[in-house]
Amino acid sequence: MRRIVIVGAGLAGHRAAEALRREGYGGRVLVVGDELHRPYDRPPLSKQLLAGAIEQHDTLYASDDLEVDWMLGEPATSLDIERRVIRLASGVALPYDGLVIATGRRARDWPRLPELDGFHRLRGLDDVRSLRQAVRPTSRVAIVGAGFIGCEVAATLRGLGVEEVTLIDVAPHPMPVLGAEVGQRAAAFHQAHGVRLRLGTSVAMFEGSGRVEAVLLEDGERIAADLVLLALGSAPNTEWLADSGLTLVKGTVLCDEYCVAVGTEDVVAAGDVASYPHPSAVGPICVEHWSNARDMGEIAARNLLREPDQREVMAAVPTFWSDQYDVKIKSAGVLSLADTFTVVEEDPERPSLVVEAHRDGALVGAIVFNRNRTIIQYQRQLAEALLV
Ligand code: FAD
Repeated sequence: MRRIVIVGAGLAGHRAAEALRREGYGGRVLVVGDELHRPYDRPPLSKQLLAGAIEQHDTLYASDDLEVDWMLGEPATSLDIERRVIRLASGVALPYDGLVIATGRRARDWPRLPELDGFHRLRGLDDVRSLRQAVRPTSRVAIVGAGFIGCEVAATLRGLGVEEVTLIDVAPHPMPVLGAEVGQRAAAFHQAHGVRLRLGTSVAMFEGSGRVEAVLLEDGERIAADLVLLALGSAPNTEWLADSGLTLVKGTVLCDEYCVAVGTEDVVAAGDVASYPHPSAVGPICVEHWSNARDMGEIAARNLLREPDQREVMAAVPTFWSDQYDVKIKSAGVLSLADTFTVVEEDPERPSLVVEAHRDGALVGAIVFNRNRTIIQYQRQLAEALLV
């Protein structure tokens, strides 16, 4: 392969570029990114960077020695897999011999959002800058969506001394993917830190003239707000692949267990944009977590260079972490498979918690608060089960 193009200059794209060079690939590598920034780490965005504990440049990955050609601020707009050409918004046509798709996801938008100032999202560096500039200690902030990002921002803003933070979600508790046991405890620690929770209710409409002034809930309550963070989950960045002939599942690129896009030999996909058949799941899954993008970026790049019978299976146990106040939440396993979540240990004073996730009685995952070593043990146990 003389020329490999990586589309998406995020974590998976960066790890793919590193892996190509580490494998001794000596051809040309082009990294195409729609943002102007070199690849950076997203987890600190809702935590240390928003809190002002680190600066923007601290989030950048080391990339000076990668020997790649950067094409930044250049969105890819289409892909022709027959001719092996990517087209960019600038009109440039980029031929490739091997392609890594790593375009990640973006913050999901509210349908028919009124044209008012004061709405924010949190996916990239520029979003953090605008949120930081807008927020004041006296701000009234409404966060729509109590998933991981909504909860982390609520915790960070309270840490910054923002007086009025309201978390709103249709779900009965925060971070519903972690189950009711974790969710109830998360609701309790957010309330203890002064976050107002409005759960089990939805937004009826946003009010304001020129800028947003309030969020009207379905149950009739009016939440006055100067700022609204829309933390509604994410959508895959695959519009540019719509006519490519690649198979998309729920908008994500369908790969085989080797991260190779189904129906191709020279296209791999990695990270938040890709779905693959994980051995512990039934059917393809998309894992929207940091460690998955890291592992998949590396494995996808290595497999692109290898003969089919030499390829590695992507089968790492999914893991995740989140920091909120003095609680480090960690999980291992495919939690979406779980039919039961059971508390097996708890120390509210510390605070610490261990919750097991089961499906049909078999362990499929675990979640902990402040129990680092315990989650590593679960991770090992789940990995060993995959080998049986
Ligand atoms: P991304 O990092 O999204 O990178 C994709 C890149 O491709 C982006 O730069 C995007 O702009 C670019 N792109 C999109 N479309 C195009 C196009 N057409 N042409 C060119 N470029 C394009 N995970 C955890 O496990 N723990 C955490 O604590 C945690 N915290 C997070 C906090 C925040 C605020 C966010 C946003 C995410 C967090 N995550 C966390 C998730 C984790 O960061 C992601 O799983 C990871 O960044 C995915 O990497 P990726 O390379 O697949 O996608």
